[in-house]
Amino acid sequence: MSEKAVTHRHDRGSAGRRFVYVVRSRRAAGLSVGLNLDPQKTCNFDCVYCEVIDRRAIARHVRRPKIPAAAVASELAEVLSELGRGPERPRDLAFAGDGEPSTFRGFLPLAGLVFDARDAAGLADVPVILITNGTGLSRPEMREAHDLFAARGGAFWFKLDAGTARFYRAVCRSSVPFSRILANLLSAARRHPLVVQSMFFRGDALGVPSGAEIDAWAGRLANVVRQGGSLSLVQVCTVARETMEAGIHPLPATALGRIARAARAALPGVPVEVFC
Ligand code: SF4
Repeated sequence: MSEKAVTHRHDRGSAGRRFVYVVRSRRAAGLSVGLNLDPQKTCNFDCVYCEVIDRRAIARHVRRPKIPAAAVASELAEVLSELGRGPERPRDLAFAGDGEPSTFRGFLPLAGLVFDARDAAGLADVPVILITNGTGLSRPEMREAHDLFAARGGAFWFKLDAGTARFYRAVCRSSVPFSRILANLLSAARRHPLVVQSMFFRGDALGVPSGAEIDAWAGRLANVVRQGGSLSLVQVCTVARETMEAGIHPLPATALGRIARAARAALPGVPVEVFC
């Protein structure tokens, strides 16, 4: 998915921390401070390209503990203080990690603590990003969190890997209906500008996304704009690291370029970037 897939599988275990880690991220083009709210890896998607864990091997519907906000904030303060003594500033702080952050109760107060810790560390100009599959964005606290991000120098990055419900089910393997993902995408993009991240790949079983699928995907994004949503960037990505399931391969740059051209044609004025 998503940027999550772009940053997942970085080493998170440094200094025995559970929730906060530092990675060198190609997305951020430098150091990124990751916030992982889901050490239990209980994502509500089961993407075929997931780099976190083979979700067929873990129990479904694991009860999630409440986020220990104080522990997250204290780990973050520690990490930012360590970085402050080093030569390189982080390029961003990103809620990404091993599961879907938008579904966690208590996200809003935690996000407030994260912005406060960032500002206290003298990094008020460093953006805070939520990388999300969108499933929890209709919750009232996530709407408020979106306002908070927009007001304090943050952004929501929304993962959309398909244009049709059929392809979505094949790639993301979630019980959340595609129609709800699209509704949450539109409503969030109407609230504040969104970055969209889309992952494309070649699968031994799935093949490559068809031209019709790509057109449908670009059409979904165009529809968001047509209905009053705002997209600040579309990122076309492919798998960059080993996936947990075999038979998933990156798309070549030429194929990614074709996908980006379809997006540019459908979304005049919206920047489209390719991550190979
Ligand atoms: S949305 Fe969940 S299953 Fe999909 S890549 Fe991210 S963590 Fe893995």
